[in-house]
Amino acid sequence: MKTLLHILHLEDDAWDEALVQSTLEAESVDCIITCVNNREDFVTALEKGEIDLVLSDYSLPAFSGSDAISMIRERWPDLPIILVSGTMGEEKAIESLKNGATDYVLKERLGRLAPAVRRAMHEVEAKTERELLKAQFIESQKMEVMGQLASGVAHDFNNLISVIMGCSELVAAQLDAGSPLQKFVEEIRHASERAAGLTRQLLVFSRKHKVMPVVLDINQVIQEIEPILLRLMDENIELTILPEKQIGNIEMDSGYLGQVLMNLAVNARDAMPHGGKITIGTSHVSLQNISDDLPPGIIPGDYVLLRVSDTGTGMTDEVKAHLFEAFFTTKPSGKGTGLGLATCQTIIEESGGYVNFYSKVGKGTTFKIFFPCIDQPLSLAVGETLADPSPRGRETLMIVEDEPSVRHLVADVLESQGYTVLRAPNGQEGLHIAQVHLGEPISLVITDVVMPLMGGIVMAEWLKESYPDLKILFTSGYTEEEMAKQGAIGQDVEFLPKPYAPTILIRKVREMLDRDIS
Ligand code: ADP
Ligand code: MG
Repeated sequence: MKTLLHILHLEDDAWDEALVQSTLEAESVDCIITCVNNREDFVTALEKGEIDLVLSDYSLPAFSGSDAISMIRERWPDLPIILVSGTMGEEKAIESLKNGATDYVLKERLGRLAPAVRRAMHEVEAKTERELLKAQFIESQKMEVMGQLASGVAHDFNNLISVIMGCSELVAAQLDAGSPLQKFVEEIRHASERAAGLTRQLLVFSRKHKVMPVVLDINQVIQEIEPILLRLMDENIELTILPEKQIGNIEMDSGYLGQVLMNLAVNARDAMPHGGKITIGTSHVSLQNISDDLPPGIIPGDYVLLRVSDTGTGMTDEVKAHLFEAFFTTKPSGKGTGLGLATCQTIIEESGGYVNFYSKVGKGTTFKIFFPCIDQPLSLAVGETLADPSPRGRETLMIVEDEPSVRHLVADVLESQGYTVLRAPNGQEGLHIAQVHLGEPISLVITDVVMPLMGGIVMAEWLKESYPDLKILFTSGYTEEEMAKQGAIGQDVEFLPKPYAPTILIRKVREMLDRDIS
């Protein structure tokens, strides 16, 4: 029970007032009592909004206990009101309860008063807690629906983005390096990457996306994403990057790290409508002794610290309290979604990290993110592999995909690398083509998962019966987890989430073909 209760006592008799007060005191009910004897003072006291409980006499000269009950039930429905009266008969007492009084206590039996007060307060607390749970439940249901919606849309959306990404890469490859069109193609590619980022954001947030962690250098990722961050900034915002050297490696999905950076930078920008400074800094911290300003629950060890500071509006306590809640936003609709920080938190926690922030109204905000250091060499950075000449081959492959634009794109891309590519629009056709195909045996099948007539998994099972050495690469806009639900993903079977850039597909295909079958 709340330790100090604010009680409003409606009573015209000073003697009774003192009696009630001393009874509560004797029973150690910790309370402040405000006593009033007319309607006007009664309403004024209630309107201040600090009252936890009302005690009311039944008969007063110009205002009665039953008036008080009706008024409270109408305007403050959750406030408990206990009638304390000497004149009220049993019948009136029962009628008052029916009208909404919480309890009644006869003046000659004031021993019941303290227990009645305590019980009333417990009921209020239990009700508040039930309502909180209900609100949490509704919130989680909302998230569930969001998640389903997100993964449903993502599937189709990812197909479209694959086409945009792939075609722009093909066009870029055909253009002369100095062509004035290069810059437009580059814009298209950027836009498609951002669109892919957006679907990822929804999927991460609803935890429907498989994270692909690699060992990376956070400074390198920041450097790669800097041009995008600059594009997002207004002219009157100065972005400074202060990377420290030799801070150690971390393990996480680089796309997700980019998203954390973008979300934080965009929030910082929005907090500085009249301009200001954003500073992104990195450093190594060795946390051995845990001090107060660290996030709660942090495990001692070595961390890479990422700091994103701004000189913006800062946040009020109210905003701070809801900051990481999904859909919490102070921005006008169309501008904010309230998903930015919720997504950041999911990503950071998934990578074993912690997030912390400091903010002062009018001064600005700093987010500090601690990623656990990992003592392993860097995985190949995406930027590097893209610059590598794409590996070629002469094997025969088959692409099974119902979306014609994706099917043709994949086939064109692989044919341009020297492969012979068979094309099928669904699993049934795929099986048929494999059976009647003469010449070089098929080495690898790239297949979508969900297709009309026969999906990729059933087709793969049939193919494996006849060609046990065949390698299968599933691609899907759905997540790996969802695919695993549909069937086992076994040996020589890999998964490439859509949308993927053609260069990634080319590399993946070569890597699978070169792998020895054990
Ligand atoms: P959105 O940006 O869509 O509103 P976020 O989850 O990213 O959703 O942020 C939630 C809210 O937190 C913002 O609407 C804003 O009120 C507050 N906020 C986040 N970052 C900052 C910041 N750097 N400075 C001030 N307020 C911030
Ligand atoms: Mg945001």
